[in-house]
Amino acid sequence: MMTDQYAVIGNPISHSKSPAIHRLFAQQCDQDLGYETLEVPLDGFTQAVLTFFAKGGSGLNVTVPFKEQAWSLVSSLTPRARLAGAVNTLYRDEAGQLCGDTTDGVGLVRDLIQNHRVTIESKRVLVLGAGGAVRGVLEPLLQQRPQQLLVANRTAAKAQQLAQLFAGQGPIAGCGFDAINGAFDLIINGTSASLQGELPPLPPGVLAANGCCYDLMYGAEPTPFMRWAQQQGAAAVIDGLGMLVEQAAESFQIWRSVRPQTAPVIADVRKKLLR
Ligand code: NDP
Repeated sequence: MMTDQYAVIGNPISHSKSPAIHRLFAQQCDQDLGYETLEVPLDGFTQAVLTFFAKGGSGLNVTVPFKEQAWSLVSSLTPRARLAGAVNTLYRDEAGQLCGDTTDGVGLVRDLIQNHRVTIESKRVLVLGAGGAVRGVLEPLLQQRPQQLLVANRTAAKAQQLAQLFAGQGPIAGCGFDAINGAFDLIINGTSASLQGELPPLPPGVLAANGCCYDLMYGAEPTPFMRWAQQQGAAAVIDGLGMLVEQAAESFQIWRSVRPQTAPVIADVRKKLLR
């Protein structure tokens, strides 16, 4: 039998940790599969996906900047992917139709709740940013029944639009950074400000006593947002590495129908990151 083939498709993709993560999962679960990176030109996404599956490929992860294109390309979307407006996991159903799912949001929630024991239910949650990543995490966060979910963004209109879009899912509102009001038990940074070494402007007192902070970004060093959180005396300061591994585990389960243990893989990827 031929080994099942998977890949992560993006541009750029050479630094992706997905191949290492999925190979560790495969080893752990005794699954015979290959997982590579697939870098394609910005105008070559559709062709590359169709060719990959035509050649017998089993599944793809999709990353920057193709998640929206993947959403438009597939014949069928899971309900959570439809609402997120993005697809990070591609596979074919029994009829051979191309299907799309998104596992980023569930990855974040699982990392918060299961790996870090952070409660979302009945808590006041502030999400910074209103880009693709934030859009993908709002529904899974609202499913945990927070008391309040405020989305704040540099461009206020984008936060307000997202709040409108998800209004049916729970108590959500949107505003600009300058209109953030009150104290929050959990602050999630979903902006890409950390990439530029910047910190979104946050008012004093915005982190409640015993509040936790989570940055979707990760790296060898704490991000500016994480350093700010430490200075505020946050009860927990967490980066997005666990989310990365958890979203991968969810994709792996979709493809292979087995759920890998994430803790040893998170530890391994962390070790390599710090090396
Ligand atoms: P987008 O480009 O779609 O959105 C970027 C967001 O950041 C926008 O809300 C933008 O505001 C805001 N922003 C950018 N620069 C600044 C700044 N200097 N100050 C304040 N706000 C700023 O990016 P994504 O949503 O795709 O990604 C966001 C982050 O999430 C990235 O850092 C990415 O690495 C991370 N991520 C992590 C994942 C994980 O598994 N751990 C998964 C997915 C993403 P405006 O609307 O005003 O432009």
